[in-house]
Amino acid sequence: AAAALTLSGCSTGRSASASGDSGSTSVKKGDLIGVALPAKTSQNWVLAGQDFKNSIEKAGFKADIQYADNSSPVPSQQAEINSMLTKGAKVIIIGAADGSQLTTQVATAKKDGAIVIAWDRNILNTKNVDYYVAFNNFHVGELQGQALLDGLKKEKGDGPYNVELFAGSPDDANAPLFFDGAMSVLKPKIADGTIKVVSGQTDFKQVSTQGWLAQNAQKRMTDLITGNYAGGAKLDGVLSPNDTLARAILQATKSAGLPNPVVTGQDSETDSIPLIMNGTQYSTIYKDTNLEAQAAVDVVSTLAKGNKPKTVDNDKNNDNGAIIVPSIELSPVLVTKDNAVEAYKNNADLEKLATANQ
Ligand code: BGC
Repeated sequence: AAAALTLSGCSTGRSASASGDSGSTSVKKGDLIGVALPAKTSQNWVLAGQDFKNSIEKAGFKADIQYADNSSPVPSQQAEINSMLTKGAKVIIIGAADGSQLTTQVATAKKDGAIVIAWDRNILNTKNVDYYVAFNNFHVGELQGQALLDGLKKEKGDGPYNVELFAGSPDDANAPLFFDGAMSVLKPKIADGTIKVVSGQTDFKQVSTQGWLAQNAQKRMTDLITGNYAGGAKLDGVLSPNDTLARAILQATKSAGLPNPVVTGQDSETDSIPLIMNGTQYSTIYKDTNLEAQAAVDVVSTLAKGNKPKTVDNDKNNDNGAIIVPSIELSPVLVTKDNAVEAYKNNADLEKLATANQ
């Protein structure tokens, strides 16, 4: 079974409908590429900076990598993008701190003749995005929803199951996609009574986690336990959108003295892989950050050669509210105990971090 696992699943080039109108813009080797990343709320973003620097320089361009300031992510990222443009960046790659707060900055970028690439998270409600490079986020959610169901069956026997739901930050365009993907699997099971959300909180707004912050998820889980499980109801499972929040949720259930629920995750973080191996966290999702950064740099290299990158149009994943952004789409991979050892071994990102920390 493990043989079927491809940890660097990549589906670029599945469709060859080239688009991405970069107008009068042009980029050539040696040009400056600005990369504006959000705050370092989880490991994937920490890895991204180094991956971009390496890929950009290897491809023969200059790199300006900036992270949003944790305490004022939106204004700091806006200022960073403006400063990249002032420095003459010909391409701006953006992991948005808030997908709906960059309309002015990307409009300026286009006016300056720069190419705008939304990276990992889409930039919303603007036509001034040329490409979107990301994993299929809706599919990430589908994998999470299915993993929760499978884990419940495996670890808790036959249902019905008591479950609580968590989503990511409302300012991240990915968060509703993850949640909608998961709910596409879970909704029928809630409707037929297999899953009972004891708190009754099933709307994105009710279950989202501001800033993707661990402490916010831990507090909400603690409150949910006090409000709904103090009378002895058993908590069987929790939908968690990523590993950082999964560990916070598990911390809350542990502190409350509850038996270990089935908890999903995402990102294959160094701290979660051992928990998956020992059965504390049920699942995660592997998304190769290095591959994702390389895919964005490949777009730039292709444009620098005067060619058009191959893009796919998947409306669930890349409709930004104004246009369907031509997209390069990568495939996420589910990781459970069954393939965690392999995920750990094959995870070049984790290896790099381990080496960097020595
Ligand atoms: C990324 C996830 C990550 C989350 C929090 C999302 O936009 O796609 O991989 O867990 O942000 O950083």
